[in-house]
Amino acid sequence: TFESSLSFSDFKLNNEGLIPVTVQDYKTGEVLMLAYMNEEAFNKTIETGKMTYYSRSRKKLWCKGETSSHYQYVKHLLIDCDNDTILAKVKQIGEACHTGNRSCFCTTLVDREAEATSPYMVLQDVYQVIKDRKKNPKEGSYTNYLFEKGIDKILKKCGEEATEIVIAAKNPDAEELKYEISDFLYHLMVLMAECNLEWEDVAEELAHRR
Ligand code: AMP
Ligand code: ZN
Ligand code: ZN
Ligand code: ZN
Repeated sequence: TFESSLSFSDFKLNNEGLIPVTVQDYKTGEVLMLAYMNEEAFNKTIETGKMTYYSRSRKKLWCKGETSSHYQYVKHLLIDCDNDTILAKVKQIGEACHTGNRSCFCTTLVDREAEATSPYMVLQDVYQVIKDRKKNPKEGSYTNYLFEKGIDKILKKCGEEATEIVIAAKNPDAEELKYEISDFLYHLMVLMAECNLEWEDVAEELAHRR
């Protein structure tokens, strides 16, 4: 038999007298769902080892899996720093969500990671850094080394990197080609910064040609 190191009366409850429970797969850490407990639900969970909540829509005690058999077996229960949120690490049978998804969190609202790796964003970001180096030189920066050497050095590097793209494309190594194209684009952007050309100018020109 198990017991909790704190009792329900130690928790800080929301204005409905409930405590939110974040539910996580105990092995993978995947966040499965969020639900609420009242005192009865909390005590039932401790007693039975099966996650039991208070259903706000049905206004009654709800043992997760009672109709679907998709029970959640308690592995760990934790409380946060201010005693107002429970984290449950569970062994999930079947899916946690009544829609059939493993997790309730299956709809993306914001995805900054996808944005950060979109080609347009990456080119803009790198170009921003290059322009910033030109304005505020940084000790030991290769970009500043190129700016100091001047346009001829930058053009020489662009030529070399272009040739390396040709060589990489000739021997069938996709990884190598990726590196050489990245090297080329970087040096191209150093050239653009040296000549005060913006990506917008290039994009406008390309768009006009269609
Ligand atoms: P179950 O506890 O899986 O037998 O499901 C019983 C009922 O609880 C379902 O018909 C849903 O109305 C509701 N329910 C189950 N899982 C969830 C969930 N993850 N989030 C919200 N409601 C749920
Ligand atoms: Zn905290
Ligand atoms: Zn908190
Ligand atoms: Zn759901």
